[in-house]
Amino acid sequence: MNRRRFLSMLPVLAASASLPMAVWAAEKPLPLGMVTFTFDDGLVSNYNYALPIFKRRGQVATAGIVASRVTSGNNDYMNVDQVRELEQSGWEIASHSLTHSRPVQIPKTYEQEPVVGWHVDEKDPSHFQTQYEYERIAGLYQDGKPLKEVFSLAELAATPGSYWLDRCIAELHARPFRGGDPAEIGIRAGSYQRELEESKRILVELGYNVDTYIAPHNYWTDDVEVISKRYYARACTGRDSDNRPGSFDPYAVKRFMAHSKDTPQSYMRIIKDHCLEHGGWVVFCFHGVGDNTGWEPYSAEGMDAVLGWVVEQKIPVVTIRDGAKIMAELKKNQNVPQTKSLVRKGS
Ligand SMILES: [Zn+2]
Repeated sequence: MNRRRFLSMLPVLAASASLPMAVWAAEKPLPLGMVTFTFDDGLVSNYNYALPIFKRRGQVATAGIVASRVTSGNNDYMNVDQVRELEQSGWEIASHSLTHSRPVQIPKTYEQEPVVGWHVDEKDPSHFQTQYEYERIAGLYQDGKPLKEVFSLAELAATPGSYWLDRCIAELHARPFRGGDPAEIGIRAGSYQRELEESKRILVELGYNVDTYIAPHNYWTDDVEVISKRYYARACTGRDSDNRPGSFDPYAVKRFMAHSKDTPQSYMRIIKDHCLEHGGWVVFCFHGVGDNTGWEPYSAEGMDAVLGWVVEQKIPVVTIRDGAKIMAELKKNQNVPQTKSLVRKGS
């Protein structure tokens, strides 16, 4: 089915959701289900290989962009214009965080960001150090300005406005922009709340329409889900399961992970089981396509085979934003029976 025609049928689908329960149970609200392809990490292969495949078949997808990478100049990732071309081709641009950190590795909220316990190095009054309690630094800031990460004490000494984390002994060294009283240097370590808020702000400032969050590493906890509601309309995670109207949670959109070794037939199997059999919404989590960069890259031929088959079956292909809106419409009806999502078997 043509995507625009499918979306125009939304009011009809919503109306069918208000049918009495017996009728509802007899008629699947989404007879063929829906499929969404998401691409995490903003790899340039999404622009080089996935976009042409989707364009040729008149379909769209959702790209999860790591905000700090899109302007990094690193050629493995799409640049600002390439991401814009995706959006102009009908793709949805989602935030995939600021630095791709897990919430357990860094402070959770802005309140937990201040780094304390600093003392001045005896030999160098511009060199501060403290014990650091988190596993990772997702940006270190003084007066809102990021300090530069360096990788040795020698480099630190030569670089004003820098920091070095000695991971072996969890000791954090900084040469801040301004020194003075160690209790007053006001250094903050980027939190997961900042990952959520700043990434969206940066992507919106670049001109993209962003209201979906895709959790890095599919790492998603109840407390970060609560924080995410301040900044996003919905969020994606993993869990290798489909989404059903009755149990739909927009802040935990479930996705099937794609691995390099998966065959197109294995994805067709998932779609048959969850979309065609049960009217579910299947969301796939891909990374790179068509080359060797990124986590578990998938072949362009395989991607094209899966998408071609889905189109052939007339199963609607939607973005996360459109799919979630459809699910929310269907869920509005309180008579929707609670269907248990099937968990993917194997792999
Ligand atoms: Zn990722």
